[in-house]
Amino acid sequence: MADVMAESETDVAVIGGGPAGLHAALVLARGGLSVVLLDESDTLGGQYYKRRAEQLAAAFGDFRPRGTELIRQVRAAGVVCRTGTLVWGAEDAGRTLFTSDVHTGALGRLSTRATLAATGAYERSLPFPGWTLPGVVTPGFALHLATMDRVPVGSRVVLAGTGPFLLPVACALLEVGARIEALIELNHPYRPRASVIGGALRQPARLAEAARYLLTLARHGVRVEQGSRVLAAYGDTQVTAVDIGHEDGSVRRLETDALCVGFGFRPSTELPRLLGCRTEPDPTGTEQLPVVDADGATSVDGLYVAGDCAGIAGVHAAGVRGQLAAHAILRRLAPGRAPVRVAGLRRRARALDRFAALADRLYPMPATADIPDATQVCRCESVSAGEIRQAAATGWNDLHGTKAATRAGMGPCQGRECGHIVAALAGRGEAECFAARMPIRPLPMAATVEGQDVR
Ligand SMILES: Cc1cc2nc3c(=O)[nH]c(=O)nc-3n(C[C@H](O)[C@H](O)[C@H](O)COP(=O)(O)OP(=O)(O)OC[C@H]3O[C@@H](n4cnc5c(N)ncnc54)[C@H](O)[C@@H]3O)c2cc1C
Repeated sequence: MADVMAESETDVAVIGGGPAGLHAALVLARGGLSVVLLDESDTLGGQYYKRRAEQLAAAFGDFRPRGTELIRQVRAAGVVCRTGTLVWGAEDAGRTLFTSDVHTGALGRLSTRATLAATGAYERSLPFPGWTLPGVVTPGFALHLATMDRVPVGSRVVLAGTGPFLLPVACALLEVGARIEALIELNHPYRPRASVIGGALRQPARLAEAARYLLTLARHGVRVEQGSRVLAAYGDTQVTAVDIGHEDGSVRRLETDALCVGFGFRPSTELPRLLGCRTEPDPTGTEQLPVVDADGATSVDGLYVAGDCAGIAGVHAAGVRGQLAAHAILRRLAPGRAPVRVAGLRRRARALDRFAALADRLYPMPATADIPDATQVCRCESVSAGEIRQAAATGWNDLHGTKAATRAGMGPCQGRECGHIVAALAGRGEAECFAARMPIRPLPMAATVEGQDVR
């Protein structure tokens, strides 16, 4: 492979063009460093500042114009934006990045003096009987269809899981004409305990945002059913019904043609882990997070992380953390510059972190132990919960042994979807995860064929 790689170099590589990466790239370029911003998507913006396709933007308007303006500023500052470029590997403390064009497979090697990983998050799914039926999707997918393409994921939709994210998704679905059959929240966040009310009141902007969503839902007659969960989905070629279990033990069946189920987000930490960053379980005990200082410097010298990949804290925290990391890199690579005061940014980051911690308390994750044996856990390799339990019980009681015995986590998603469940079922605790290995995502065959076009 090495012979066919296009070589390039830059002062700083920023991996991920979402809010964290964009804010960081802007600060770095304005500070006088050469910056390459890489994103596997064909457009910049990440999850929050997604771009509508041209025709849809012409028909429905610009989506989140603040994102458009931020991207414009990043380009104007001279950042080299390489969209459609996957970073599939890294070595030498992130000073060498291996890339691939997601369309052609063309390979590249980028040398840097410092690297910022701003790779965002994945949605957290928890398997239940029927979750692999067509029509059962994540809330993020439903939101993407509704906001980017203006298409409802179904005409009658059940939304379920836990987290504040369910609220904007429900509102977006209503806006494109879907009927919300039920909004099923596992926890009781909208009837909070006295101990968390004080914390919530210290976040008036976020409270107002939640209140706006709840008002919209109320106007459409949608009530959030708290303390309830999806037990199973049914259908032949498509989901047609869902069983909802309530705290009092009762079960009710709802007819629907789409079911969106999500349990928040999971940080995308493969690159920092691949590079050997020190990690530790997050406060909820469900994720391994890179250990960082106040500005996102990891234990690997010259490697920084910011945004959701460093811990789920939302779009505003991602922007602030991106700027903080960028200032830290500037101090490192351009020490002659006049010092910039970052105390205000650090204060804001701490306040936003407190809000994220509050969200963790309001929307705790459910236990994974009660997934029925017959339920498929690893979708790529069709491995059930029972097979994983059996492997763990017969001596394969570490995560990698369970993977080897069952193939769970060996498919194209490389365990990103199921790894936390496999770990929990194998009795390891969700925070344990499969080792990150190159390539961190599957590569097109073209990338491995010698003699291909090099660009
Ligand atoms: C599906 C989804 C939908 C969301 N919708 C909302 C919403 O409507 N409202 C809200 O407030 N919050 C939403 N969030 C949360 C919010 O988007 C995030 O908090 C915020 O975008 C985090 O910014 P970020 O820059 O850390 O990551 P992101 O915005 O996720 O950006 C990360 C970027 O990194 C790129 N990337 C990842 N790995 C690689 C790699 N190896 N090589 C190249 N590129 C890579 C990705 O393509 C992505 O563009 C959503 C999150 C998700 C996952």
